[in-house]
Amino acid sequence: MQNSRGRRRAVGPPSAPPVAEVVAADRPRDPQRDARRRRGPFRQITDFAAASGIGQKAGVALAAAGLVLTVTVPATGSVMATPLPGQTALAASVAQPEISAEAAAKIDFSRSSVVTLGDPDGKLKQLLSAQSVGSITRAASAGTLGAPLAHLVTASPFGYRVSPITGGSGDFHRGQDFVAQCGTSVLAAASGTVTFAGWHQFGGGNRIVVDHGNGLETTYNHLSSFNVKVGQTVSRGEVVALSGTTGASTGCHLHFEVQVNGEVVDPMGWL
Ligand SMILES: [Zn+2]
Repeated sequence: MQNSRGRRRAVGPPSAPPVAEVVAADRPRDPQRDARRRRGPFRQITDFAAASGIGQKAGVALAAAGLVLTVTVPATGSVMATPLPGQTALAASVAQPEISAEAAAKIDFSRSSVVTLGDPDGKLKQLLSAQSVGSITRAASAGTLGAPLAHLVTASPFGYRVSPITGGSGDFHRGQDFVAQCGTSVLAAASGTVTFAGWHQFGGGNRIVVDHGNGLETTYNHLSSFNVKVGQTVSRGEVVALSGTTGASTGCHLHFEVQVNGEVVDPMGWL
C-alpha cells in the first residue's frame, strides 16, 4: 500500500500550473481602472493586456482574432501584490473582467511602437500613445523629457511655497525654477511644435510653449529672447530661447513648466 501510494505520488501528474497566479503577481497596481472602463473595448483589451503583464502585442493579437480575453484572478492568493493604502485589490472587485474586441478592429502598428532607448523622442511618443497622458505614472514618465538647460540646478521647486514676489504663504508655484544666468541657452525638452512665443500676461514674461502632442506641453518663461516662432517644429535639445528675467521674476532664472492636458504637473516627474 505504501509503495503504491508512493509511486502514485512520484509519477502522478503535477497539480495545475498556477498560470493565472503568475499573471496576477506581475500585475502592477492600476489606479486608472475606472477611467479605462470608460474607453472603448479595443482600448480596454490592449490596456488590460499591457497592465496585466501579458504584453500589449499579445493583447492586440487576441483582439485581432476576435477572441474574448478572460483573465481569471484568484480572489485570494499568496502571490497577489498587496494593494497600497486606499486602493482596492483588483481581484476583490473585478474577479473576472471580460473584455472583447471586434474581429475587424483596426490595428495600427505605428513606427512609434518600435523604438530603442537611444531614441528618447520615440520613447516619449510611445509612452504618450500607449495610454492617456493623464494616467501615466511618475515611474513611467521620469526621464522622458530632456533637460531645458545644459546644467540643471533647482532654484525653487514646483508646488506650494512662500511667494518670492508677495512674501505670502500658500503660493502655488506652477513650474520648476532652474538657476540660469541671463542669456543662457534654453533647450526644447523634446521634439514638438511651438504654439506660443510671446508675452505671457500672467507673470511668465517672454514665454514659449512647445506642444509635444497627446496632451503634453512644456513652457519656458522669463526669457530674454526667442530663437523660434509660432508654428515652428523644434527638436529635442534645440535652443529655443535665451533665459532672462522678464515678467514676474526677481532675477535671472528659467521657470520651466510641464502641462498635461492643460494642467501643470511637477516637471521633475518628467525630467
Ligand atoms: Zn518659477
